[in-house]
Amino acid sequence: MPELPEIETLSRQLRPMILDEQICGFEILDSLLGNIGRLEGKKITSVMRQGKSLVMELDTSAALVLHLRMTGRLQWHASHQALPPHTRFIMAFPRGRLLCLDPRRFATLILRDAVRCSKAVIDPSRNYPVSALWEIAGVKKLPVKSFLMDQRIIAGVGNIYACEILHDALINPWRQTCSLSKQEWRRIATVMRDVLNRAIACRGTSVSDWRDLFGNKGEYQHALKVYRREGSPCPRCCGRIQRLRLSGRGTYFCPACQV
Ligand SMILES: [Zn+2]
Repeated sequence: MPELPEIETLSRQLRPMILDEQICGFEILDSLLGNIGRLEGKKITSVMRQGKSLVMELDTSAALVLHLRMTGRLQWHASHQALPPHTRFIMAFPRGRLLCLDPRRFATLILRDAVRCSKAVIDPSRNYPVSALWEIAGVKKLPVKSFLMDQRIIAGVGNIYACEILHDALINPWRQTCSLSKQEWRRIATVMRDVLNRAIACRGTSVSDWRDLFGNKGEYQHALKVYRREGSPCPRCCGRIQRLRLSGRGTYFCPACQV
């Protein structure tokens, strides 16, 4: 599933293509997406990421909110070419066409009030008061990895980056949130921002089907230290990386240096 760096990549790549441009055609090819009405003639006034959602504000004070979920991808076609399999909607602009491909059909596209979209939880790729983290975490008793992946608190971190962040921060994924010191939260916040911004600079992580707007793989998979590296030596301490399940998700960590 695309996480914060992947959606941020799409948002940055889309801006020069569609910002201040009019939608000149819109077609839904999969009825599962529902009917969101006519978009032709409306102008895109902003393109941004909120958590794992891509938000395109329109000049009608409404916003299109796209969540790619499991297998959704966006693809830009500068010229008319055959539609790839699993195309679910097409949005045409003067410079080209934006396609949403999604074999498993879980992606959602909704039209909603633009004001509602600006309601934000913590954006872990930006600066924010770290006290916001420990004030919420201090009263919770859940594994820190589950806390980092709770989209109601921190928007955009999924399984890959949660594993990498906790390894970089030397924290065991099963530690209870209320047991972490303020210093440890500061370390997590700093590492989280660094990991996510490095991944954005690499246009995301292509360990499975992630491709950017132009069909290219990201590069952050080459920088992964624990994710999908079960049995390999830890790049920091030479301990053996393990994979165990936590809340149903494969969790990769180094039991020797993540305490
Ligand atoms: Zn280690």
